[in-house]
Amino acid sequence: MTTNTDVQLYIGGAWRKTKDTLPVVNPANEDVIGTVAVAGSADLEDALTASADGFRVWSRTSPWRRAEVILKAAALLRERSEEIARSITLENGKPISESRAEVIRGCEFFEWDAGECVRLYGRVIPSEPGVRYVVVHEPIGTVAAFSPWNFPMSQPARKIAGAIASGCSIIMKASEETPTGVVHIARAFEDAGLPPGVLNLVFGIPAHISEFLIPREQIRMIAFTGSTIVGKHLTEIAARHMKPALMELGGHAPVIVCDDADPIAAGIASASRKYRNSGQVCTSPTRFFVHESIYERFTKAFVEKVQSITVGDGLDGATEMGPVANDRRIEALQALVDDGKARGAKLLCGGGRLQRRGYFFAPTALAELPDDARAMREEPFGPLALINPVRSIDEAIEKANSLPFGLAAYGFARSAANVDRLARGIEAGNVSINTLEASRAETPFGGVKESGLGREGGAEGLYHYMVVKNISHVVE
Ligand code: NAD
Repeated sequence: MTTNTDVQLYIGGAWRKTKDTLPVVNPANEDVIGTVAVAGSADLEDALTASADGFRVWSRTSPWRRAEVILKAAALLRERSEEIARSITLENGKPISESRAEVIRGCEFFEWDAGECVRLYGRVIPSEPGVRYVVVHEPIGTVAAFSPWNFPMSQPARKIAGAIASGCSIIMKASEETPTGVVHIARAFEDAGLPPGVLNLVFGIPAHISEFLIPREQIRMIAFTGSTIVGKHLTEIAARHMKPALMELGGHAPVIVCDDADPIAAGIASASRKYRNSGQVCTSPTRFFVHESIYERFTKAFVEKVQSITVGDGLDGATEMGPVANDRRIEALQALVDDGKARGAKLLCGGGRLQRRGYFFAPTALAELPDDARAMREEPFGPLALINPVRSIDEAIEKANSLPFGLAAYGFARSAANVDRLARGIEAGNVSINTLEASRAETPFGGVKESGLGREGGAEGLYHYMVVKNISHVVE
């Protein structure tokens, strides 16, 4: 299969074509493989009306029924996982094995939130006889959600799961560059019996959609994953209208390799993880601070592993790293690499675009960069690792915390004392020691500082989609 489909809007339980469309491009060969609908103001108006209708029905639907529909949709997505995985790879470029894993992860988000939604307990506050104070959590209303192109299925899944499990309705704008993953989600929910209007999909011009929807009365909450700059912009609009914003933004994840870690194992594990999704992951391990006593061995193991990575079309089962998502990433990466080299960094491997069709950038590692190199301060969001020696854990922690980001951070250490220093010292929403996995359905995920507001997943996730109501009752 070399072409994808023509993606339509989904509003009030019906699929809708539009006059204007945008092309969808396969990043592995730059072919146009389909189109995506562009919503106009009238479509967005209809989505608002439909989502208000959906909310009226769904917010009064029992949690057991909500869970049943979500679990049925997740089961359908699992059945359809191969078709979904292929569409993800066609539009995003990642290896098909990663697309398959993404679909399963998206299903886990649904399954976890379905389990949580029947346990959204309130509480009874102690009071004098004849008086009851009862605290309940109610769904907040319609959510306007925006998700990016790096995880076309699991990113929208997380937001749709949170909204629908909590009893909200949602207008979801996923990425126009990778629109099909969320279409599969909508089809699964349609087949699972979700009432019309609870889940609506729109695509189009991102700024038009967000600026149209966020101020509107029906929208009670914003959820966004993407760059910090866009996240700040949307948070400002939300603040002007006094609406809460759940923001999962950029990171620039540090990895601290302590002197008691196994440098070979850490080097291989780091290189294996760094180039997942061509490094286009907000939690991608990027700034490596390696104790000087094991620096050479770590770096050698890292580079040897990188040199074994097979780069190619993600539909080829042998491919371990695909293209980056678009030519914007190529330009941004090249600028960071050139700046690093100009400031004296050593190029360990890779360094530029691969001369073939498609948006391929070689898996790249730079070493010994000065702190003011652009790549050390700006999130590369691509296959670029930055490796620096440090003299102590304290120096590494100070460097790790020196940026305005704090999403994921990693450490490799054996002694309990080193593990404790890393876990306490690093400013991040997620600190992972001796593993490069940052989040799972059951663990809360999100950032500190400019990496975001709020948490997705875990026991905490659904509460963002709810408001607290206190009911005081004097018994007559
Ligand atoms: P971008 O910020 O322009 O776009 C990211 C997503 O936000 C896209 O899906 C886009 O449709 C959406 N978006 C952009 N402007 C919007 C607006 N005004 N209203 C609503 N939605 C809007 O970034 P990009 O050029 O695609 O990627 C650049 C940077 O974004 C990367 O370097 C990376 O830092 C960041 N990014 C982060 C994530 C993440 O998972 N946190 C994902 C993708 C991109």
